[in-house]
Amino acid sequence: MKLKFLGTAAAEGIPALFCSCDTCKLSLELGGKNLRKRSSLLLDDKIMFDFNDALFYVHNYQLDLSKLEHLVITHSHSDHFNIFDLEYKLIWYTNPGNPPLNIYANEKALDRIYHTPEFSTWHKIGASELLNFHTVNRWKEFYIADYKITPLAANHITCYEGEESLIYVIEKDGKRFLYGLDSGFYEEKTWEYLKSHYFDLLILDSTIGFLEVEKPSNHMALSENVAVIETLKESGSIDENSIIISTHFSHNGKVVYDTSSKIYKEHGLIMSYDGMEVEI
Ligand SMILES: [Zn+2]
Ligand SMILES: [Zn+2]
Ligand SMILES: [Zn+2]
Repeated sequence: MKLKFLGTAAAEGIPALFCSCDTCKLSLELGGKNLRKRSSLLLDDKIMFDFNDALFYVHNYQLDLSKLEHLVITHSHSDHFNIFDLEYKLIWYTNPGNPPLNIYANEKALDRIYHTPEFSTWHKIGASELLNFHTVNRWKEFYIADYKITPLAANHITCYEGEESLIYVIEKDGKRFLYGLDSGFYEEKTWEYLKSHYFDLLILDSTIGFLEVEKPSNHMALSENVAVIETLKESGSIDENSIIISTHFSHNGKVVYDTSSKIYKEHGLIMSYDGMEVEI
């Protein structure tokens, strides 16, 4: 499986949209890998995980999303599910003949679309033919072609009461990886699943970076990423061949790629950057 990290920041980006803190100022000045868009991942050019700065990704990476058929969403937060850009999949905004887009998300995240006033007008411009919505639930695996996808419980609260935020395990051709954002330190049932499977690759939430997490938290810090590694090494779920990547960075965590990536490396973690590609 080939993975491309389209964006690697938390919701506000780095530098953040309206911020001039030291981290943002330095990141802006240094440019390159220090600039981060909101987090999204493209798998084998076929499946996109989370949907936010998509127009930027098309331009910057010269992506052709006209043929994209599968979009997997973790939860309703706008940096993971920019519902309004789905409109541009519809008639008037694109050329005819492209396949419909299948969108997989939890019930509350899909409710957000159904209750948007704009949604009723989308039907006049092809929503029923071009957007297929699929509700996915924790612990109920599903398949996209020969990719097996298992939604696990994320430790992540949203403003939609009762929303069951998801992290995903993806398997194909004997390889397995975790798409683990957004989530704080995992709950017991998720640990049970992680401890009983081997992972070639873990992608971990590292929003809080060098700060200490105040509990309960929706996200992880570097110290918790390290604790995940220790726990999963002990259970045999990862070994020296496993790749561990931290992502979804916030400027509040005071990470600047040029200076922070070596600190992550010392802890056995690869610090992601926008455009990074990995193959397992
Ligand atoms: Zn997020
Ligand atoms: Zn800032
Ligand atoms: Zn979130």
